[in-house]
This record gives sequence, C-alpha cells and structure tokens, in this order.
Amino acid sequence: MLFRLSPDNELLPTLTYSPGLSRIIDLPCHPRTINPSFPYNKKLQSALQGKKLLLEETTFSLEEIQTHYRNGYCTYQPAIIKNHKQIMCVRCGNDQLKLFASFYCARCRRKCTYCRNCVMMGRLSECTPLLSWTGPDAPIPAVCRLDWQGTLSSGQQHASEKIVTAVEQSMEMLVWAVCGAGKTELLFKGIERALQLKKRVCIATPRTDVVLELAPRLQQVFPDINVIALYGGSEDKLTYSPLLISTTHQLYRYEKAFDLVILDEMDAFPYSVDKTLQYAVRKARKQNSSMVYLTATPNKSWQRKCQDNKIDYVTIPARFHQHPLPVPHFVWCGNWEKKLRREKLPFTLLTWLKERLITDRQVLLFLPKIAYLQKVMSILKKLDSNIESVYAADPMRLEKVKRMRNKEIKLLITTTILERGVTFPNIDVAVLGAEDAVFTASALIQIAGRAGRSVKNPFGDVAFFHYGKTKSMVEAKQQITNSNKEAAKKGMLLPCMGGDK
Ligand SMILES: [Zn+2]
Ligand SMILES: [Zn+2]
Repeated sequence: MLFRLSPDNELLPTLTYSPGLSRIIDLPCHPRTINPSFPYNKKLQSALQGKKLLLEETTFSLEEIQTHYRNGYCTYQPAIIKNHKQIMCVRCGNDQLKLFASFYCARCRRKCTYCRNCVMMGRLSECTPLLSWTGPDAPIPAVCRLDWQGTLSSGQQHASEKIVTAVEQSMEMLVWAVCGAGKTELLFKGIERALQLKKRVCIATPRTDVVLELAPRLQQVFPDINVIALYGGSEDKLTYSPLLISTTHQLYRYEKAFDLVILDEMDAFPYSVDKTLQYAVRKARKQNSSMVYLTATPNKSWQRKCQDNKIDYVTIPARFHQHPLPVPHFVWCGNWEKKLRREKLPFTLLTWLKERLITDRQVLLFLPKIAYLQKVMSILKKLDSNIESVYAADPMRLEKVKRMRNKEIKLLITTTILERGVTFPNIDVAVLGAEDAVFTASALIQIAGRAGRSVKNPFGDVAFFHYGKTKSMVEAKQQITNSNKEAAKKGMLLPCMGGDK
C-alpha cells in the first residue's frame, strides 16, 4: 500500500502506483480523533482488536478500512522502523541487521528493506503498513460459566488459588509443576476469574500439539464462549474470542491484547532460544496484565529467580495420582555408535528390551539423531515385528502416536520429538546415547516424565544408556529425586509411597 497526505495530514492510501506517492515509513502517522457517532463495523473490530495486521490478512475492502481510519477507529503504522543505523521490525521485534534483506519493490519502485525473521507470516517491508484497531474494545460475554466438576489434588488446589490471586492483582508468577501434575485443571479457576472480571485470556505455547490438545478441553469446560485455537494452519485467525489458545508464533500479530497470558512449556523449543518469540509474548500483553509461566523444567536462570524471590512461584512436586516420579537409572553401554556401525546394539540395552518385549508393557526408546532410527529399527525388528520409528517430519507421525496409544505398537523408537506432550498409559522408557548434547537436563526430565503417568499404572522403568555420564544426566536425576523428597515432605504422596505416616 502507498500513501498520499491530504492537506490536514490525513493518510490517503492507494493500491496502485502513481508518481508522487510515499511509503508509510516516510510519512508522519497521527491517529485521528474518534467520532463517537460513527457506526463502526463490529466484524472489523473483532478482526483487528489487539492486533497488527497486513491489509491482505483481513477480508475488508480498503474503502471500508479507510472510512474507519477517518473516523478514528483504526490506524496505519509502518512495519519497519529505521533510524540512523538501527532497524527494527515492529511485528516480531527483530533488530539484527543480518535478518533483514532488500529487494527491488514493484510497489514503491525502489529498493525496499524487509524482515526475514517473520517473512513466513507475509512479507513486511518499508512500504507495508500494519493496521490496528483504535476504537473501543469488544465486550466480553456476560456469562462465562466454568462447567467442571472434577477435584484438584492439594498441590493443584494451592497453585489454582495462587493463580486466581495473580489474576485479581495483575501479577506475574511461575508454576513449577512436575510432569503429570495435571496442569490444565489447575488453570480453570484462574481463567474463570479473569473472564468474570472482563479480562481477555491467552494460553500460549511453543508447540502446535499442545494447542490442539488444550483447545477442545477448554471449550468443553467453558461452553458459553467460543474458544479459539491459533496455529500455523488454523482458520480462526480473524475471529474474536475472550479465550485464545495460541502458538507463540501466532502472537507476532498481537499487541496489547490480553489481560492474562498463560505461557505453557516456556522451556520448550523454539521459544526458549528465540528472542523474537519472547518479544511477541511480551507485546501481546496489555500494560497492566497478569502473566503465568507454566513449566516442569525451568532453566537455571528461572530457578535462580525463584530462589532469590524475584518472582512469585508455586511448586507442585507430586503427580495428581500421588505416586512419586520414576527416578532414572544409568546404564553404561560402551561405544554404542561404533557397535551400531557394525549393525549391533549394546548387550545391556538388548537385554533390557527383551525383558520388556515378553511382557505386555510398551516401550519408548529415544535416540539422539534421526540418522540412527532406521538402523536401530532394522536390528530390533528381528526381535519383534511390532516396532515402529517416528521423527518430527514423519508424515505418519500422528498416526503412529495414535497406534502406540491403542497399543498396536509394542516399541516406538523416536527422537526428542516425543519428549513432551504425549501420554501412553503403561510404558517403560529408555534413552540410548543419553550423553548426547541434545539430551539437556530438561529434555531428560521430560523423557523420564513419560513413564508411570496413569492412575492404573503409576510406575515405570526409566533407563539412560550412556557412554559416559554427563552433567545433564546427573542434574535431571537430582531434580527428579528432589521433587519426590519435597512431595513426601509436604504430604503430597500416598502414605505407602513415603508420604504422610
Ligand atoms: Zn516497497
Ligand atoms: Zn519481523
């Protein structure tokens, strides 16, 4: 889109080039004063409120948007900000020179710089305006009843109450809950309170799988509102809802939208390493808002923040079924990569696997690299034909996970892709090459956390086969043992499990 300025500094947009037009980055952008009697379009309000969008991301005509702009209900802003030698993308916060590029632009007819970091969401260049809503907020439905009759464990209950307080007082807090603590249920009351207070809520997570799993559960317990799931391929992008479940990527499009942001799995890739995703989450919050971080494995710097009381936090050291977490044991297995080159697996691992293949237990076997999947599978297929492998880009991934859940697969060989988010009721877990750098302490804790998750089968064996113990392995085991001790001390375990005597 290109612009001309009217005599009273009003931006006049056009979609076709003619000489004398300017790029948005070169023009002063003043919001117009609101005309209270203007009959604004509620659909446009729903689509734009709390967001910054490209014109092509909306379904409205330029004429309609321009009328709203004239009456003070929306505004145009440059997407790229340049001054002296600095440059920044307004949508993703990228300010690294190397993540910008230039091209000869057909629209503004000269060299135009664009952001490479968020280009997958539509290209933002110097002549691209971002649209945002400057009119009143859409009202939150009067009735947002929580329809849930379950009960919370004492740990969940405590965290749930703390979250309600954080919502009421617009505070930040961290919930450090072990794998299998039941973190979805402990959010319900806080979300209900926020909606009662007419606050808009977003649950953000780095992983699409989590969005797909959470959205139907929340829709079920909040039947009066339309819960929206946002991820790469979702179709709900323009609908307004007081409760959104979104990947952190999708929050690039939001600004000052939410009164409560709940960030699940903040230690998961890519959020944990991508500063622009962290910027997106910050940007999506309203100035005076609450933030709840949710994790089973906070990194060192967050652990320190907790210890130094720099953030309010609550721990849930026990699982909802009140059995302790399975503690991993380490098994030295020699130079397994060398063995693998000779089409062999370490004897210790083979013995461990054979013991399980003759029972009705299923097994998850984690490998550090995709390259090994095929080889390990062909060796193991000789023991049992009911074996599959799965990796991130595997087109059959969802189907294989489903078959594993249905117990149609005996042994599933996987990369770290299944370290989180999957629950199989009755499994043992092994890692081959636990010394590899991909297995960070938090990855190993998550992997161990796959075992013993159901009430019926709260136990499971977790074995780390390695060629040299690493710090991460020791730290993972230490953290799991500590959680069990804390749970026992707080009386959160069943009496026979070392809890209350
Ligand atoms: Zn351009
Ligand atoms: Zn960008």
